[in-house]
Amino acid sequence: MEQKINLLDMTIEEISKHLEDYGVEKYRAKQVFQWIHKGIGSFDEMTNIPMDLRQKLKDKFYIGRLEIQDKLVSRIDGTVKYLFKLIDGNIIESVLMKYKHGYSACISSQVGCKMGCKFCASTGAGFIRNLSSGEIVGQILAMQKDQGIRIGNIVIMGIGEPLDNYDNVIKFLKIVNNKDGLNVGYRHISVSTCGLVPGILRLSEENLPVTLSISLHAPDDETREQLMPVNKRYSIDKLIEACKIYTEVTKRRITFEYAVIAGVNDSKNDARKLAHRIKGLLCHVNLIPVNTVEGTDFRQSDRQSIERFKKVLEEHGIETTIRRELGSDINAACGQLRRKVIENQ
Ligand code: SAH
Repeated sequence: MEQKINLLDMTIEEISKHLEDYGVEKYRAKQVFQWIHKGIGSFDEMTNIPMDLRQKLKDKFYIGRLEIQDKLVSRIDGTVKYLFKLIDGNIIESVLMKYKHGYSACISSQVGCKMGCKFCASTGAGFIRNLSSGEIVGQILAMQKDQGIRIGNIVIMGIGEPLDNYDNVIKFLKIVNNKDGLNVGYRHISVSTCGLVPGILRLSEENLPVTLSISLHAPDDETREQLMPVNKRYSIDKLIEACKIYTEVTKRRITFEYAVIAGVNDSKNDARKLAHRIKGLLCHVNLIPVNTVEGTDFRQSDRQSIERFKKVLEEHGIETTIRRELGSDINAACGQLRRKVIENQ
């Protein structure tokens, strides 16, 4: 038998192509797309689609909703961490955060990760596979449905390296932005990368005004190589050069993520070195108190050192924020929960 296709993986145009075979009108594809992005779970809920077409759809497609395997709610701030089970049994994580201006989702782009950053919990269990665009959209739909809310902001900062799953991530961005779907503005979406230079250059040409976040985490190659093996492939110079091109082509401000780690990258001198590297670039720095992951010796810098770091950057005219920690009681950081589950299996 022919394998069924996940409708969530498809654009309106792709659905339309399939429907041509049935000789139905074009606007039906849009109706189907609208239904599945409203979060319905079965074809019978598509009340404006004729029964015979619903049957044909059932024969060819499925709606790839994600199953909630587990859910943790932070007692401190209401942040919700989800573990989702994919159709092949693999598990991914997503996080829902509530801000004054609405809900923000942190979603995964791969099952596991190849990048090997030393401080990150996602890497421990290795890489399994890419997520399809529908599995990325599915995370948003499942969280919206579970909470009865609308998600207005998306950060691709969960498990995985989005630019290592380039085509599916781009397709996801276009699907989630579609006005007949979730209609999330590109400006409300951040794509975070550990620094895959060819992907950054390619993204600059897509004409998608998303926010690009670069996980920099160190002011020099020696330190960065120890933390992030990807730096051996793309040095800081190459990375900053790509960022410069990105800002010139897109006119969009880049965010540099910098996880502050006690005694590793948090000195005044580190801050000065960083300032000199990124000075003049259209950017902003986000300092993140590193989350201590079991099995690593990385510890959070104290508040004073983080404030001192910020002050040095600001003295050099670099806009800097310190990220508020959400969900600290539920292991909300990247990959931590999935890792626990895998280790217990
Ligand atoms: N692969 C992408 C996106 C996923 S990681 C990237 O590297 O950007 C999302 C962010 O969380 C990255 O900035 C990553 O460096 C950061 N991160 C991972 N582990 C962390 C930890 N233990 N503490 C603080 N930030 C962490």
